[in-house]
Amino acid sequence: MEQIIEKYFRPGRLPHIWCPGCGNGIVTGAIVKAIDKLAIEKDDVAVVSGIGCSSRASGYLDFNTVHSAHGRALPVATGIKLAEPRLKVIVVTGDGDATAIGGNHFIHAARRNIDVTVVLYNNNIYGMTGGQYSPLTPTNSKATTAQYGTVDRPFDVTELAKGAGATYIARSTTFHTQLLVDVIAQGIEHEGFSIIEAITACPISYGRQNKLGAAPNMMKWQKDHGIMLAAYNKLTNDQTEDKFPIGILYKAPAPEYTAEYDKVIAKAQKGAK
Ligand code: SF4
Repeated sequence: MEQIIEKYFRPGRLPHIWCPGCGNGIVTGAIVKAIDKLAIEKDDVAVVSGIGCSSRASGYLDFNTVHSAHGRALPVATGIKLAEPRLKVIVVTGDGDATAIGGNHFIHAARRNIDVTVVLYNNNIYGMTGGQYSPLTPTNSKATTAQYGTVDRPFDVTELAKGAGATYIARSTTFHTQLLVDVIAQGIEHEGFSIIEAITACPISYGRQNKLGAAPNMMKWQKDHGIMLAAYNKLTNDQTEDKFPIGILYKAPAPEYTAEYDKVIAKAQKGAK
């Protein structure tokens, strides 16, 4: 692990600001382990983030990086991929950043099937901005904006991605770390829009308000509730009520956006319509 930290992190930017017990380090570690496993050169990777606790990762990582505006990582990533298609472009984002202010960008990047890999750190809350509820906060959860429990219903971001046209969809947790590394690596290799939902614990802004215990308790919850897709599909509706599937949830081939765009450029250069 020490070698990985020396190779892929900017020593001058450490120590990080994440709270003790936060799962963001595990997810960020899984990203660099996936890149290391694929033996991709650092200069062939671009990491783009929005705003929030997880989005601080772009500053710590020693690749081509952009720490952009709230919810706007995907437009920046789209521009980078169109300008430099050789780059492996990875978006680091949180549930609030990606599905609220950045929700529209998320839908349309998936629809275009642009070859960008989104790693969505889902901790069920806006951590950095003070513990407000997000579109992925479970109903009845306490938040600073829902002192008596939220009445909003969350959506399943993997189902949203599928409906919008994403061609690689996976989920893992910070407990299932090896699986997390594997599904991120496969997402990076996939030619098209890939989304990996990483279920992660925020013991401070979410856990405290909802009395979920310390980080180990929250990770035990991940262990007890995340079920590999093949096993999950054999369960009855009653058995799946509070469980969620993990692993590769969907994968399908489809034309990739930058490749299709190159064809348009070639046509335009010939002057043919
Ligand atoms: Fe992590 Fe939550 Fe602390 Fe943010 S507020 S660093 S998500 S534990």
